[in-house]
Amino acid sequence: MLSINQLSFWERETYFQNIDFLIVGAGIVGCSAAIHLRKKFPEAKILVLERGFLPMGASTKNAGFACFGSVTELVDDLSTMPENEVWATVQKRWEGLVYLKELIGEKNMDFQQNGSWDLIDSQVNNEDCKDYLGKIDYLNEKLNVISKHTNVYSEDKNINSKFQLGGIKTSFYNNLEGQIDTGKMMLKFHSLLVENNILNLSGIEVLDIQQEENQVSVKTSIGEITTSNVAICVNGFAQKFLPSEDILPARAQVLITKPIENLHIKGTFHYQKGYYYFRNINNRILFGGARNLDIYGETSEEFKNTDLIKNELSQKLKEIILPNTNFEIDYFWSGIMGVGKTKKPIVKKTSNSIAVGVRMGGMGVAIGSLVGKECADLF
Ligand SMILES: Cc1cc2nc3c(=O)[nH]c(=O)nc-3n(C[C@H](O)[C@H](O)[C@H](O)COP(=O)(O)OP(=O)(O)OC[C@H]3O[C@@H](n4cnc5c(N)ncnc54)[C@H](O)[C@@H]3O)c2cc1C
Repeated sequence: MLSINQLSFWERETYFQNIDFLIVGAGIVGCSAAIHLRKKFPEAKILVLERGFLPMGASTKNAGFACFGSVTELVDDLSTMPENEVWATVQKRWEGLVYLKELIGEKNMDFQQNGSWDLIDSQVNNEDCKDYLGKIDYLNEKLNVISKHTNVYSEDKNINSKFQLGGIKTSFYNNLEGQIDTGKMMLKFHSLLVENNILNLSGIEVLDIQQEENQVSVKTSIGEITTSNVAICVNGFAQKFLPSEDILPARAQVLITKPIENLHIKGTFHYQKGYYYFRNINNRILFGGARNLDIYGETSEEFKNTDLIKNELSQKLKEIILPNTNFEIDYFWSGIMGVGKTKKPIVKKTSNSIAVGVRMGGMGVAIGSLVGKECADLF
């Protein structure tokens, strides 16, 4: 790879001189921030730097659930977080999804509102099950205020026969949840960068960022760049730039089956408070989760699939999702999220000319484009 001081006059002038906004990270948040900066500053020179040849975090690796909270997830959150924070997060997810649809277009990301099911198996005792059922009216009231839809959640007892699952005693249906084609969404984000005359360079890693008196100095793998402003949108990789913030990388592992004849599963599914999730992608199953089995080991920036989680996913796929169906696992992959003690993302200025938008948790499809906009609005 050439360094900046080996580049031609044209290359230096076009890409690396007089930059008004440099955005680190070309995931959902970085792309959205760049697009919003263009709306606010029509004449600005905006450069997005991405270290991978593709975005190398979570935005092209996720499950594509357009989700804002399942019954067991919300009840669990209500037991660990202040009530107003839980509903503020749901509201943000809901508004974020509305916003994502506006920005990308439902068709462009193949948005399908097939509904979701939160699966309850025999490990959930009857007391807890009753507790979930007793809270459905309350959850519906809250969701009505946020979404203006009534009866979003309901119990669906016919889950086993409908989808031929194994060992599930009941489920909570959410009629508003949808699914997207993650790849198509990112393609559209990247084409919006081009349409908006935003420079987008891949394969350049940012190593250090320093606020100076009237500019920001950015050390990269190809040399030093100066810019007027920086937006840091690196999610799970933010620790090196923000060592005092509560943000850790969180690996998530996923598998996909080969196409399955007459697949009877359609929609998105949550299991064990969202620690497991699966959906159909046409006639395949995408299945991920189980990081709760090894939280310490999965607190990692390394893209890797471990035997522990591969075996767990393979077993649950056979026992719960496809107990009576012949299938083959096609392959596994992993992605890296950014998490902290709370679910709230970090969106703020860290100096005069540097802003951050990070810590999307497992919610970045829903909230990422809104967080990108909020980050851009800090300038
Ligand atoms: C397996 C999996 C399943 C998921 N499923 C869902 C789901 O169904 N629904 C949902 O809402 N969310 C889901 N998520 C979460 C969601 O994908 C993320 O929250 C979202 O993509 C975060 O977007 P981002 O732009 O903040 O981060 P990222 O997509 O991680 O983008 C950050 C970018 O910064 C780049 N970068 C990092 N450091 C540097 C550096 N030093 N220099 C240059 N570039 C750098 C990275 O390469 C990366 O491309 C899932 C995540 C995973 C991993």
